[in-house]
Order: sequence, then C-alpha cells, then structure tokens
Amino acid sequence: MLKGNILTTDGWINGSVRFENGRVTALEGHIADPLANDAPYILPGFIDLHVHGGGGRDIMEGGDAADTVARQHAQHGTTSLLATTMTAPRDELMAVVAGLCEQARHRAAGGARMLGVHLEGPYINPGKLGAQPDAATVAVRDEVLKYLDLAPIRVVTIAPEISGHLDIISELAARGVRVQLGHSLGTYDDAVNALKHGARGFTHLFNAMSPLHHRDPGMVGAALAHAEYAELIPDLLHVHPGAIRAAIRAIPRLYVVTDSTSAAGMPDGEYRLGSQHVTKCMGGVRLADGTLAGSTLTMDQALRNLVSLGIPLADVSNRLSRFPADYLGLEDRGRIARGAWADLVVLDREHALTATYVEGESIVEYA
Ligand SMILES: [Zn+2]
Repeated sequence: MLKGNILTTDGWINGSVRFENGRVTALEGHIADPLANDAPYILPGFIDLHVHGGGGRDIMEGGDAADTVARQHAQHGTTSLLATTMTAPRDELMAVVAGLCEQARHRAAGGARMLGVHLEGPYINPGKLGAQPDAATVAVRDEVLKYLDLAPIRVVTIAPEISGHLDIISELAARGVRVQLGHSLGTYDDAVNALKHGARGFTHLFNAMSPLHHRDPGMVGAALAHAEYAELIPDLLHVHPGAIRAAIRAIPRLYVVTDSTSAAGMPDGEYRLGSQHVTKCMGGVRLADGTLAGSTLTMDQALRNLVSLGIPLADVSNRLSRFPADYLGLEDRGRIARGAWADLVVLDREHALTATYVEGESIVEYA
C-alpha cells in the first residue's frame, strides 16, 4: 500500500492505493489539493514510446540489450516502453526485430515492460535522416508486412511524401499500427493527406521534419493544425521552451518521449546509436558534425523539465503516462484505477523519484 497525493483519473485525492498480483485493487481517499499538504506524489508510471537505448546498450545490438535498456529506464520511473529501432539494412533490421519478439515475451526482473516495437525507419526521407544512418528505403508492402509478422510492431515512423507510402500508411493503420510522420521533407498537404489515410501521430515534433513557415506551414504546421497526438522530446535541447508551450496549446494529447540513446544514464563519452558513433557531452548526444543524435533524457527528468516551465503536475503526468497509453489503446496502463496494472511512481515534494513499481514489483527504493 502507498499513501500520498494520488493522481486518479478523476483528479487528485489524498489517500492510499493498494495493489496485489500486479493490479490495483483499491483506491481510498478524499479530494484534496496536493499543494495544500506535504505528502508525496503518487503518479502512474511513465510510458516511453521512443527508446533506442540506455545503460550503455542499444536496441540495435540485439541479444539481451533490451533487458538492460528496460532496467535502466525503470530506474527513472519508466514502467513500459517501446523498443525503438534505427534505420538499417533490411537483413540487419529483420534480425533485430525478430529478436525483440523474444524479448517482448517476458519482462526482465527490475525492468520496464516492453509493449512492442517502434520501427523508426527505414521508410524515411533520405534527405531528412537526422541521426539515422543512410539506409532509408522505399516501403514495399510485402516487406512491411514481414516486419509485422516478426514482432509486435506498435508504431511505425514513415515519410508520407515518398511515392507509394500513402497506401502503406492505410495498410498499417488498418492493421492497428500507429503510423507517425517523421524524418520527412513532406509539405503541409502531404501530412494532411497522410492523416486522411490513417496516420495518427508525429515523431519527435519539430525535429527532422519540414518546419512551419506562415506561407508554407510544412509538417510542423500540419501537426499544430490537425494532430490529436504527437511526440515531443522535452530535454530543452531538442526544442525551445516557447515551441514546447505552443505545441501544448495546439495539440491536445501531445506526449513525452525520450528518444534516449545508450548514453542515457551514463557518463560523458563515446557511445553507439544503431551503427552510428555518437558523443555524449554536457547532456547532449551528437554526431561528429554536431547533429543532435537522440538524447540522454530520462522520463523523470522530462517531468521536472516540464514542471520547470510552469506546466501543472497533473497535466505533465498525463503527457508522460495517460496519453501514450490512450494512443496505443491501452486501458489498463497509464492511469491509477482499480483493475489497472500497478505501474506507479512516487515523487517527493521536489519531484525527485523515490520509488517505482512495475506491475506491482518494487524496482528500487531510493529514499
Ligand atoms: Zn529516435
């Protein structure tokens, strides 16, 4: 049982939450303003739909790398995640995705639950790679469906302006995959068309996509004008706080991802991002030419960054937990409710993480 200011689906209560066999069994308390007392905050565990690595390991390594990544992020309050692949040659990517299917079957002790795979490329624009290796290809239906057979692919990032990709977007959407637009030079019209074909989200909004100009609103303009959901990396390096505020006003269910690399949770130094070599220095991860190459962000730091911008804690929590769960259609995660998974984080009054529970398992007691 945990006691404190609990963020429920109906707002804050001061009281207790009980759980058994991995599920929340009881919620008791009274409606209370959490700012009117000194009790800790109890929030739903964080759900990160864009994770490349952590703890020195990269998802593209295959093997048991995903376990290390899941454990590293659980140390920072992430209770479930999508293992996110990099653009890579077909055979390599197929092997990695097949391996992730095995990893998704179990949950490593002390680790976050892997909900499935986010395929970031290879169906992206070779002119907007960001930190992705130069292995972008045009999507072919049979190949795409092969990936779906290999592992639970929950999200695919795709560039809609490439010839043939609108049909692929329709196909993926019809199969329940969330299609996100990203690594794209597409125009506003390309993006609007893709949304009409079933695309639902935008990958790391603002980064690696055509920017907003008031006479050429680009992919960013389409997201601000039409999107219900979009990812954002709030490490305060990838996106200016003003742009974060604008996006929060425009996109109702803007949600937080880390886009974290193997360097997350590690000291400054040289790391791997897919096949790329990257350098971590002063919180940033960059290619040799200075391009930002993923982040070292963790979800608990993302929460503190958004709170530091003056965004209310309950709103921040929704963007770290409830909205990504809703986006994937998961009704028993991302919220504290009877019957839901006991995925919980406890924060002290300074918003430092003091405990994390994944499906009822206590990950670590910091305090
Ligand atoms: Zn990424």
